[in-house]
Amino acid sequence: MTPEFSSKSLYDDLVKFGHIIPVGVPGIFGRGAIFEDILTRFEAAVGRLAASDHATKVHFPPCINRQILQKSLYIDSFPQLSGTVFSFTGNDAAHRELSSRLKDDKPWGDLQTMTDCCLTPAACYPVYPTFTGTLPTDGALVDVQNWVFRHEPSDEPTRMQAFRVHEYVRLGTTDVVVAWRDLWLQRGLDILLSLGLAVKAEVATDPFFGRGGRMLAANQREQKLKFEVVCPVISAEKPTALCSFNYHQDKFGTIFNIKTSTGETADTACLGFGLERIVMALLKTHGMDPGSWPKPVREVLWT
Ligand code: ZN
Repeated sequence: MTPEFSSKSLYDDLVKFGHIIPVGVPGIFGRGAIFEDILTRFEAAVGRLAASDHATKVHFPPCINRQILQKSLYIDSFPQLSGTVFSFTGNDAAHRELSSRLKDDKPWGDLQTMTDCCLTPAACYPVYPTFTGTLPTDGALVDVQNWVFRHEPSDEPTRMQAFRVHEYVRLGTTDVVVAWRDLWLQRGLDILLSLGLAVKAEVATDPFFGRGGRMLAANQREQKLKFEVVCPVISAEKPTALCSFNYHQDKFGTIFNIKTSTGETADTACLGFGLERIVMALLKTHGMDPGSWPKPVREVLWT
């Protein structure tokens, strides 16, 4: 008997119905037209929910200035997830060596040089350095969607190496930022509940690397700096995070010298909807054919 939740059967169903297209690397795949349609419709629903906030929309490429990730300690905290771009900068002799190794399928990583680019690890990272200086009186609110990279090769369909996250980022005083985070935690729950998903909010931690990382995670949990809205997608016991809410206190304000209008170091918070995971949660919960989804769910997305 097929278990109610199974990573493999979900993956197989997504492939069978053309929702995802394998490309030979775990955690990387193409998306089919119906999958993309659901994703776009969910984004539109979030946009309607956020419309009255008048966030400033920005867009960045899926590559980021390496210095931003060094300065913000991302690479130090998550070396196992980071993707740094390397390229060939050698001469003709080095190229001959490269060609020969490629032909023989031998390792060639040592013939490459680190570039100034990393793959963007979170949609909000390029935003913070753009606010160096003094914020307007009521702070700032940014709307950003991007492809992000996490080096986590896995056959589990919701654990991807490349996926899209739609984030909102708030910068301002502590009171403003925390109240905004709480408002969105409720909004995030409401929109996912309205789509018939069995979600709940819980305190969470980031996968910081190593022994020092475990201390950072313990601190994060104790201070309730990270929440996730989770939903059973591949397991009932270990539900999948569909959105996450991060309160960074004054971390980015300090690193990138962002001040409130009264001269204090600004606080920041962000929330991100994991778009592919939300589509997969919908397909798992309501079936692989969105034409047969419950009417109230369709009414939210097909308005
Ligand atoms: Zn973020």
